Amino acid sequence: MAENIPYFDLPAQIRGIRGEIDAALARTVDHCSFCLGPDVAQFETDFARYIGAAHCVGFNSGTSALHVAMRLLGLGPGDEVITTPFTFVATSWAVSYCGAKPVYVDIDDATFNLNPKLMEHAITPRTKAVLPVHLYGHPFDAKAVLEVCRKHRLPLVEDAAQAHGARYHGQVVGAFGEMSCFSFYPGKNLGACGEGGALVTHNAAFDRRARALREHGSTVRYHHDEVGYNYRMEGFQGAVLGVKLKHLAKWTAERRRVAHRYHELLADTPLQLPREAPGAESAYHIYAVRHPRRDDLKKHLEAHGVGSALHYPLPLHLQKCYAALGHKPGDFPVAEKAAREVLSLPIYPELTEAQILRVAAAVKNFFK
Ligand SMILES: *Cc1c(COP(=O)(O)O)cnc(C)c1O
Repeated sequence: MAENIPYFDLPAQIRGIRGEIDAALARTVDHCSFCLGPDVAQFETDFARYIGAAHCVGFNSGTSALHVAMRLLGLGPGDEVITTPFTFVATSWAVSYCGAKPVYVDIDDATFNLNPKLMEHAITPRTKAVLPVHLYGHPFDAKAVLEVCRKHRLPLVEDAAQAHGARYHGQVVGAFGEMSCFSFYPGKNLGACGEGGALVTHNAAFDRRARALREHGSTVRYHHDEVGYNYRMEGFQGAVLGVKLKHLAKWTAERRRVAHRYHELLADTPLQLPREAPGAESAYHIYAVRHPRRDDLKKHLEAHGVGSALHYPLPLHLQKCYAALGHKPGDFPVAEKAAREVLSLPIYPELTEAQILRVAAAVKNFFK
């Protein structure tokens, strides 16, 4: 039997760039800048340029970047942030860490992103920010979201943790709001060899304060202006990310190639396939198909040596950790239905035509 196709194949990615990574890591060892340092500084400059923003601040995770973004907006107890229930939980952590409350708005059925048409109902005098996610690498409708933000004078923070290189009307996502946050977790489209994250902004004051907050709230050593964190990016991760950033455009194109092949090959199945909204160019971090029998399909694929995954099986408003918010099933029906129906197929730049054909054949076989 042919070799299994894993949901994600990190070893294949590393094999392709092993020499470059080894050399970059060796340089970091030579100059011994293990916490922040020149590799991180260089990556920050390069990534800010890539996004088209003035500043990028490196963090030790996407979650810490999101936390600091919420701190920069002065979030505290009693404050509310409009966000999506259909995402990885860390989007909401950022709000909770500040003692504030995530206020959920249901998603759009076609893109799985926060539905801008439903935002205004959720805004109260306590609303302090809007935090949507470019989920699966598909940009949210930034124009519609910004319109509501401007009308109500609310800052927009983009959770771009899954969307490195995605485009919205030609512009790379991550520079539409006051700030955007990225994750460089190894499985992300741009991943470190360990943990990593970034806060990107046009605002020089946010940049300065984010740099202080990630280093124990200090700009002058052993002088602490406010309670801060140890959220520094490691030198090794800056070095690895600098290497990988050079490959990102090519990798994004390869992910799009895989998505387009799935589109063609799966068009005549009962699956609902991901579609790009007008003006959207997805970075296809995740290729999520939909079907009411997705649990059976997942088992079937497993039996045929094809990996798949669930993003996400339980919306945030129904998570135990958020029981205190008082939500019940039925509160966000579109998100709940998506959580029951989505199944993520393997998608990565290294996926070969033969592997794509095998995945498609296994899917089609299920519906025979
Ligand atoms: C991965 C992810 C995060 C958190 O990033 P970490 O680097 O794992 O802390 C936040 N939001 C979304 C949408 C993510 O996918």
